[in-house]
Amino acid sequence: RKNALQHERHAVHLALPPTAAEDVIRKLVKAGFEAYLVGGAVRDLLLGVRPKDFDVATNATPEQITALFRRSRIIGKRFPIVHVLAGAETVEVSTFRSGQSRQNTHGRIMKDNAYGTLEQDAVRRDFTCNALYYDVIHHQVIDFHDGIKDIAAKKLVMIGDPSARYQEDPVRMLRAVRLAGKLGFVVDADTAAPITELADLLKHEPVSRLFDEMLKILFSGNALGCLKQIDELGLNSRIHPILTALQNVQDKPMILKSLQQTDWRLQQGKSVSMGFILAAMFWEDVAARWTSKQEYMPYTAALASAVSELRDELERGWGMPQHYSATMREIWLLQANFDSRRGAKPFKFLAQPRFRAAYDFLLIRAEFGEVPQELADWWTAFQHGNEQTRNNMVSAQN
Ligand code: ATP
Ligand code: MG
Repeated sequence: RKNALQHERHAVHLALPPTAAEDVIRKLVKAGFEAYLVGGAVRDLLLGVRPKDFDVATNATPEQITALFRRSRIIGKRFPIVHVLAGAETVEVSTFRSGQSRQNTHGRIMKDNAYGTLEQDAVRRDFTCNALYYDVIHHQVIDFHDGIKDIAAKKLVMIGDPSARYQEDPVRMLRAVRLAGKLGFVVDADTAAPITELADLLKHEPVSRLFDEMLKILFSGNALGCLKQIDELGLNSRIHPILTALQNVQDKPMILKSLQQTDWRLQQGKSVSMGFILAAMFWEDVAARWTSKQEYMPYTAALASAVSELRDELERGWGMPQHYSATMREIWLLQANFDSRRGAKPFKFLAQPRFRAAYDFLLIRAEFGEVPQELADWWTAFQHGNEQTRNNMVSAQN
């Protein structure tokens, strides 16, 4: 490996889709600053993958950036970065920073807020493929850590000493799993080696940050690939309830099916519902409680009680934001409504905004024999029928 100050400039003409990031870079350069496209976007473009977002790195300070862009604001807790708004797009602009930081006694970074040079900014990034800078004006990729070579070899390689880098920030272990799964990379042996032993450090991370990473894994477009990585790298599944629920996923048909469906939809560029997949993941637990509560409670009340028990665990213990939890709970609660097929109830249910999500979930339950297929078919027909058909269907129930 080269020492950090050596770097290569590769003449590469990346085909950028139209993005405000390019305008932001040009404006910064015109004002006399250095500015590059950085991180996942450069990596993805080199791989021929459409980037999710475009990040910019610059030597301009947040104050200098906000002075230049009217619609911009400084955000960030651990480190100030600037969001520049352009139409519907938000470009994240961060100032080069050095890896110099305060660490606690376990080597964990507590605060890293020292600005730095381009070289230093590259060193503090996680993987070699994520430390590439694209100069949109001269069409050059600046590469300090052989990132281009590793991308070509489809290898995920940590910059620096992997063990120390995981101790600085344990979430990098989850990022390793996610990026390898998503990109179809092999985690390099040295980068993989410390993970089994250090995985427990993740237990001390804020649950909200872990939950964020879990969502990124589930919606990476290759969640099953990520789970395989978790297994292969020996990353302890007890660090988060979502990972626990996903352990041995091959033996959990309903979860497996919903993940396959989600991966497929994302690969087709279709939309997916976070609430839906979370609902599938923990349904088994809800269903078991629902059944046992029915011994001493009415049908609908038993479901409501099961759902509210889980809600407490999910929101407090697992860092699930209220917004996702709300959709998930609604999908669960509405399952009781499918059994009311008389009078005005089916019509009211159909008019409910959440009907569709609840119905999709009913289909999965029927597929796994939890409810009769006849029930699912009835709702399919009711949904697609005209007024007359619907009236007839409801009358036939009496
Ligand atoms: P994605 O395609 O999921 O957006 P990404 O690599 O762009 O993947 P981001 O979370 O958007 O991931 O981070 C942008 C860049 O910031 C990364 O490419 C990497 O250079 C750097 N980075 C992010 N998280 C860390 C971390 N925990 N430690 C070091 N560098 C990081
Ligand atoms: Mg990104």
